[in-house]
Amino acid sequence: MKKFQVVIIGGGPAGAAAALYFKQAEITVALVDKAVFPREKSCGDGIPLKTIRLLEELGFNEEELFAGGFRISGMSVYAPSGAAAHFGKASADSATKSGCVPRRYFDNLLFQKAKQKADAVYEGYKLSAMIKTESGWRLKLQDRFDKNYMEIETGLLIGADGSGSFTAREGGLLPVDTRNSFEGLRLYYSGKKFNNRVQIFYDKRILPGYVWVFPVAENRANVGIMAPRRNNRKNKTGLHRVFDEILRTNPVIIEALNGAEPDSPIRGAILPLGNMPGERTGNNIVLIGYAAASINPLTGGGIYFALQSARAAARVGSQALQKGKVCKADLAAYEDWYQETLMPGFTYAAWFKKKFASEGFVNGFIKSASRFKPAATFFMMIYGRPLPRRVFWNPLFWVKVFFG
Ligand SMILES: Cc1cc2nc3c(=O)[nH]c(=O)nc-3n(C[C@H](O)[C@H](O)[C@H](O)COP(=O)(O)OP(=O)(O)OC[C@H]3O[C@@H](n4cnc5c(N)ncnc54)[C@H](O)[C@@H]3O)c2cc1C
Repeated sequence: MKKFQVVIIGGGPAGAAAALYFKQAEITVALVDKAVFPREKSCGDGIPLKTIRLLEELGFNEEELFAGGFRISGMSVYAPSGAAAHFGKASADSATKSGCVPRRYFDNLLFQKAKQKADAVYEGYKLSAMIKTESGWRLKLQDRFDKNYMEIETGLLIGADGSGSFTAREGGLLPVDTRNSFEGLRLYYSGKKFNNRVQIFYDKRILPGYVWVFPVAENRANVGIMAPRRNNRKNKTGLHRVFDEILRTNPVIIEALNGAEPDSPIRGAILPLGNMPGERTGNNIVLIGYAAASINPLTGGGIYFALQSARAAARVGSQALQKGKVCKADLAAYEDWYQETLMPGFTYAAWFKKKFASEGFVNGFIKSASRFKPAATFFMMIYGRPLPRRVFWNPLFWVKVFFG
């Protein structure tokens, strides 16, 4: 049976980046994905510039990453009342300078680079069982095409297998809490010229969720919806129906899509939100990305956190493997990093998410951001950002809000 120091389950952004980071530390790596790339992914396709900066560490460049998508230089946010705040070139904020890149292209770029560097790649193989051994895990993989099984062994299993993670469940980690989850849908529209702004629409039927129009090309946009799961929404109608209703009746969205038609099927996924309590490491196992619920609870964004968690897992995991000790205690530095680096931002965002459940709050906040520069700066500083611990106690934060 083949044995690798690390086996990564999932070749999305988290898994592909983890493979590249582990190879930088000269660790033997096998990368497993049940899909064959390029593959579709339900996502808004929004890629902030900070994500590109992280990928530069792995040898990618901005040109190739944005080549399959569309550069964005502004963001418009609409309140249920119809009030709009526009952020863009006038603001020095990098959150408005980003790109929208279909995941089919983006993930394939990352996966192909990881495939070149990894010691073995099992593409089209699904992890179907994982058995704990004294020194790690024995993994049973099923070939998606001929349905045959094969087994491999590892000292360190990286769970990067996304939402509804098999590795999390079988590893006894991070039980999914539906109150800390969103559900999302997306499809593509084409046929009209979109400008290079992302548009976010808060609609009272799905607060604190929202609908988006993210252009992925001059004449094509990703259009989607993200909302609390049905049982945690005031409106208990299924998300497909609510989405359809909003697209037909919200006047600002009708205007934004006027002249465009759907050109793809709808795809959906559950988003486990970042403030989900639970353990992300166990004996010889670490969860990263979506599998670790690394998703901003206010915006649903997660690719940046997927990459950050991949880097941290590779740093801690490589050190543990080099010492020959990969028990839970040896991987505790990852759990600590997670709690200190990602969790404070997720906690603040979860607090804002609660506020965004109120129509009055969203109307007031967006109206203020449209009228007063400090309110606009505050909005951009908190929206989609990994905020550091106790940031609101830091006078520098407020100096930036009022004078930055
Ligand atoms: C509707 C929606 C919109 C979103 N919009 C944005 C956005 O605009 N910007 C943003 O930053 N984030 C967004 N997100 C979040 C983003 O999609 C995730 O953060 C990102 O996909 C996480 O990457 P990952 O590599 O952890 O997981 P994934 O991309 O889900 O990759 C997991 C991989 O694991 C594989 N896999 C799963 N199970 C197995 C198994 N048993 N065996 C082998 N392989 C397996 C899958 O085939 C898949 O390739 C959105 C999410 C949704 C649902």
